[in-house]
Amino acid sequence: MALQQLADKHRLSHAYIISSPAQEKQAEMAQELAAAVLCSAPGNKACGNCRDCRKLRGGTHPDLILVRPLVDDKGREKAEISVAQVRQLVAEANVLPNEAERKIFIIEQAEKLNHEAQNAALKLLEEPPARLVLALCTSNARSLLPTVRSRCVELSSVSEAEMADEQSLRLAQTYIKRIADKNPWETCVFCMEHEEMDIASVRLFVQELRSCAVNMLAKRAEPMGLSGDTLMKICRLAEKCEDYLKVNTGVKHIFGLLAAFDADKS
Ligand SMILES: [Zn+2]
Repeated sequence: MALQQLADKHRLSHAYIISSPAQEKQAEMAQELAAAVLCSAPGNKACGNCRDCRKLRGGTHPDLILVRPLVDDKGREKAEISVAQVRQLVAEANVLPNEAERKIFIIEQAEKLNHEAQNAALKLLEEPPARLVLALCTSNARSLLPTVRSRCVELSSVSEAEMADEQSLRLAQTYIKRIADKNPWETCVFCMEHEEMDIASVRLFVQELRSCAVNMLAKRAEPMGLSGDTLMKICRLAEKCEDYLKVNTGVKHIFGLLAAFDADKS
């Protein structure tokens, strides 16, 4: 569903997935949704002028609750949004809005909700509390459980196909970077993290991997210190994966091959 369709304040759903490859774009869309939820002026669209719209713009609206990964002692963002954070939301869900007619919970980087946290969030989706809108912002809607996705209206800044292309490009670049860093452990972790990917996405990813390596070879620039020889080997590795995928080799096996790749040996 396109973003424009959410502009109607009177026809809001109780839950949305906002997806875009860029986090800034997600935030922008979430802000637009929040305006539609909170605006108190008459009319179908957020007015931008009422007390609620102004407070929202100023970042002080009490009926907008943002959830994002917590930060650890060293100031680094944690890898996951914890189930405790989601339970806190669930507990607050039935409390009436402070000022507006409705309130909105926005979960940023929802791909960082682990399965337990997503299952906790299901409570809000299965029996949606009155006067509450939930928005899950993510770069990858596929990372969310089907039980969650099926209960949300999905808003995307790009088509599903563009989204998939963008994601495979990002994955291919990350993999090549891991190889360039010569850190087999990191490469292995990367591969393990993607073992559950669906086969169509893996196909796109290895195609993208091959074309990235080919493009880098064509430029003869030795990007990230990668030699032409290593790039050739990455091309061959990607081709091998594509061949395996044609005969329905499992995703885990493909990532096993990618994890085992050693530019100095293969
Ligand atoms: Zn307004």
